[in-house]
Amino acid sequence: MKCLYCDCTESKVVDSRSADDDRTIRRRRECTGCGRRFTTYETIEVTPVLVVKNNGTRQSFNAEKIRNGIIKSCEKRPVPMSVIDDIVSDISKQVYNSMEYEITTKEIGEMVMERLKKVDEVSYVRYASVYRSFKDLSSFMAELKQMMKAEKAERKAAEKVLTDKAEKNTEGSDK
Ligand SMILES: [Zn+2]
Repeated sequence: MKCLYCDCTESKVVDSRSADDDRTIRRRRECTGCGRRFTTYETIEVTPVLVVKNNGTRQSFNAEKIRNGIIKSCEKRPVPMSVIDDIVSDISKQVYNSMEYEITTKEIGEMVMERLKKVDEVSYVRYASVYRSFKDLSSFMAELKQMMKAEKAERKAAEKVLTDKAEKNTEGSDK
């Protein structure tokens, strides 16, 4: 903070006192340039981060909304709630630590996708289908195809296990 008298930006704190029910800290500072003293006040910023939607409207950042979006994408998938909670708190931290007052829904969507992709690919594709713009539809379709192939293989493997089990059961009942 620039000194009132000499424009020097370095100062040291010589005294700190709380004020306003401990919501504010008053600091007496001494300029390291000219040695004169001045007072600064420090309070916690309570301004909410605003989320800018595609149509330009804004609303307060809401972690619960992000959580609900992820839960929807993870329906019937093997993704534990604790993992979803970790993603949400990680994103919230990033949003609040950025010191920006506004963030777009697109930016939030990218943050979710980046993390979801590492957790479960099917959930990721479901989420991406909601958030990705048409601009990269072709790459999205390619990714979707790949995933459907993998899912099909997975299902086949699961069916085989079931068939094997059923056969075993039949064998058992014969005896
Ligand atoms: Zn000074």
